[in-house]
Amino acid sequence: MDTVQRRELLSLMPAELEEWMLASGEPKYRAGQLFPQLHRGLSPDEMTNLGKRLQEKLREGFSWHLPVVEQKLVSAIDGTVKYLFGLADGNCVESVVMKYDHGNTICISSQVGCRMGCKFCASTIGGRVRDLTAGELLGQVIAAQKDCGERISNIVMMGIGEPLDNYDNVIRFLHLVNCETGLNIGYRHISLSTCGLIDGIRRLQKENLPITLSISLHAPDDETRSAIMPINNRYGVSDLLDACREYYAQTGRRISFEYTLIAGKNDSVENAQKLARVLNAHLRTRTDTMPIHVNLIPVNEVSETGFRKSGREAIAAFAKTLEYKGIRATVRRKLGADINASCGQLRRAAMKQS
Ligand code: SAH
Repeated sequence: MDTVQRRELLSLMPAELEEWMLASGEPKYRAGQLFPQLHRGLSPDEMTNLGKRLQEKLREGFSWHLPVVEQKLVSAIDGTVKYLFGLADGNCVESVVMKYDHGNTICISSQVGCRMGCKFCASTIGGRVRDLTAGELLGQVIAAQKDCGERISNIVMMGIGEPLDNYDNVIRFLHLVNCETGLNIGYRHISLSTCGLIDGIRRLQKENLPITLSISLHAPDDETRSAIMPINNRYGVSDLLDACREYYAQTGRRISFEYTLIAGKNDSVENAQKLARVLNAHLRTRTDTMPIHVNLIPVNEVSETGFRKSGREAIAAFAKTLEYKGIRATVRRKLGADINASCGQLRRAAMKQS
């Protein structure tokens, strides 16, 4: 264990490295050598062009850890790869790499566990253990890319945890991953999914980052939503959708809505009609006409929750009802069906074993 808390090398921006180099009597260009190699997954000890003296100083001044592949599952159906990554303190998180025609997408975790308490979700069962640092958020992308040997061009923050509950580290990570000399992933290729922390949405709106925001809505009214998502007791549906309208008005960035279909809970035609009504009422006012897209996701059955996924007919009827009311709806194609690719389940299985 470190006796003094050392700064994490992977969490630092190029300008911060430059500053450190100058303060330690090194030329500034050393930062330009260090940063790209770090983001390719090399440890400072492997960077022979830095020289022994600087390597030694970096060892003294910083900690460096890349998430370690503890388990790796590859789908025989579609090539989706699921990682269980071990962190420096023995905790673990999950990341999933999905292969699409437009490139590889990684789904990363934002916290160890989660405290949002959604009733259908495996990630929240043991609560939140801690936030991930910016370096650990980034480390998932670097380690996965290094392991699969192919460029990762898209990121979705839809793994374990609530990104807006780890706000500062997530924003730092977004800046890091966008750096030209690092992974250089464009903001437009990054999505962030939230259960609806309105304060966070308002802050994000001011960051001026053209990422895509996804809202996990999952229900059209407070009664239905509060029954499956406790966060709704704090931030209700109306206020959430008003915050979405404002976000769109300010940023011009379209928001997508996630709707997990759970048999008998939120999947009736009446629920769909209500959803269309409430989305249209809040997001399509006389002055704003936000394009609305709803992703329908049959709930992934987690043994502890007892929720069942909706039947094929109920899903089709739900989608048709939305379309009829002018709302685009797609049923999410399920990748990695044979490897339990929904986040949270692998970590839970590992926790049970240990
Ligand atoms: N905390 C963020 C991101 C992590 S969850 C959020 O709530 O958006 C990513 C998505 O998976 C969310 O839409 C979440 O509601 C959904 N999800 C969680 N458990 C699920 C399950 N068992 N089946 C289907 N979707 C689930």
